Amino acid sequence: MADPAIKTEKLTKHYGDVKALVDLDLSIEPGEIFGFLGPNGAGKTTMIRTILDLIRPSSGRAWILGLDTHEQSVEIRRHIGYVPGDLALYPSLTGRDTLTYFANLRGGVDWDYVDELAGRLDADLSKKVGDLSSGNRQKVGLIQAFMNRPRVLIMDEPSSGLDPLVQREFQAMMREVAAEGRTVFLSSHTLSEVQRVADRVGIIRHGVLIAVEGVASLRSKAIRTVSLFFEGPVESSVFEAIPGVRDVVVEDHHVTMSFDGQMEMLLKAATERHHLVDIATDEADLEEIFLTYYRDGAG
Ligand code: ATP
Repeated sequence: MADPAIKTEKLTKHYGDVKALVDLDLSIEPGEIFGFLGPNGAGKTTMIRTILDLIRPSSGRAWILGLDTHEQSVEIRRHIGYVPGDLALYPSLTGRDTLTYFANLRGGVDWDYVDELAGRLDADLSKKVGDLSSGNRQKVGLIQAFMNRPRVLIMDEPSSGLDPLVQREFQAMMREVAAEGRTVFLSSHTLSEVQRVADRVGIIRHGVLIAVEGVASLRSKAIRTVSLFFEGPVESSVFEAIPGVRDVVVEDHHVTMSFDGQMEMLLKAATERHHLVDIATDEADLEEIFLTYYRDGAG
């Protein structure tokens, strides 16, 4: 079996009394998009900086592609793309000069691919980086991370400042990376983008990983409003007994409810003795689930 793309074992980092990272055990498979979510100060950047060997852990170990992140850090650098949270670029260089600088460090790059990425992100590489808005500067940072087609992409809050259209393109780029069997590690404190691209999410709070879950499974747990439209009148009792159903409101042929159970059970009950003509459900909103995790730290 292939080595995990990223693996940590009891990875811990203390800054004096601050426990920025505590006994982190994580294993991320090649081809996965993993979302790393947590509120400000949760330890996301600390985790990333530790596995990149930019800071040393207080204890524990980590591997990228089976290589020890400290002992084999030089070898690892050849396989990763990194977007730091605090992207610092030379303001007097143009975007293209900046990318040339990174390309030279890495022994060359496919410029056709760079131009393709720039086109997709609508990045202007002819301007001086210092004259760009923060979102446009961020695009240069993204291109530098993607351009060598790294096996593992590690990104710390990469979409900050990107407008919605560019964010969507960026999400497509991440999916393509994963489809090629490469891996994306995406740290974020906004759920909405993680929810759209990630296969799994880890939630970190006060340095402790409190949950790791598949996005599909989270989605199935989300509370949503369901509206059912029937040919004839129905009674609320048909629905009230179904696990996960709450706040049933019946208005003649139309029923609405809050629901966080199994959709199949609801549909079975709805169609058993009545003629269901239409169904509407809002998009699963995971925000509430995450806020609960953030607040309580419950598993
Ligand atoms: P954000 O979403 O705000 O970027 P984060 O999840 O990336 O937050 P970290 O930057 O990893 O969080 O910080 C985790 C904890 O470690 C915080 O309490 C922070 O104050 C502390 N910390 C981080 N770097 C240092 C440092 N160099 N010295 C002392 N404390 C630090």
